[in-house]
Amino acid sequence: MFLMLFCFFQSERLSFPDQSDIQLECYRGPAKSRLVFFAPHENEHVAESYIKAAIQGKRAHFFILRQAGERELELKFPEGTVKVDPNRIFTPAGSAASLLKTNPDLTTDSPLYKQAFTRCNRLGYWLTQNMGLFKRKTVIIAVHNNTDGFDDDGKGGEGTISMVRYQKRFEAGAKYIRRIFIGPGDEDDLIFLTHWRDYRYFKKRKFSIVQQHKQVGRLPDEDDGSLSVWAEKFHRRYLNLEAQRDPDHLEVQQKMVDTVLKRFL
Ligand SMILES: [Zn+2]
Repeated sequence: MFLMLFCFFQSERLSFPDQSDIQLECYRGPAKSRLVFFAPHENEHVAESYIKAAIQGKRAHFFILRQAGERELELKFPEGTVKVDPNRIFTPAGSAASLLKTNPDLTTDSPLYKQAFTRCNRLGYWLTQNMGLFKRKTVIIAVHNNTDGFDDDGKGGEGTISMVRYQKRFEAGAKYIRRIFIGPGDEDDLIFLTHWRDYRYFKKRKFSIVQQHKQVGRLPDEDDGSLSVWAEKFHRRYLNLEAQRDPDHLEVQQKMVDTVLKRFL
């Protein structure tokens, strides 16, 4: 019986048709599952094994984007290679801005840029399509890990994810933040989400929370091509579970996963 259960939960790897070394590792639950876990950054895998085990036999899917184990993807062409953040390719405007930022030598009139731009858009569509994100009732659970502190925090921190930084941004009038709640935990462990009802639910359970402002779906300046912006444009419910790595805050992220499963299943 035990063995049979495992047989029902097989993974498969889909290759992106335009570039076969970019793959989507799929752990699929029953067809009607509406809960979709997604890990776009391959080097952020603190809770990966935990999620695989936790959704066994449950109505949830888990997808991991794979290439070479790095945060950024390499898009390869005869003319050269460009790098792109896989969480910046879900809208055309985001892809364009992200490509130019990540590859300073790239110019918009070059053939390489045009090919890379097309590939980003096709990859974004391929991912959303294969993960079933266009289905209306889908709840997207992005899974990320971030570094201790944040750039310029005066304590040697790195990155852009931290409740301290979000609070500063919120107070400075950042248009992408609707509201925030600072829980008792570490500044790097937080849930970034789209829906007020989920904000209330997770606030009650003392998680730190950032609720994205709906206007990111219509303000061009706020469109960074990330999946949370896509979710706003397509009216999908989205929650991003963020926990620190190095040292890994595995226990906190496990608790986030457990709470998500309890809420949505
Ligand atoms: Zn990430």
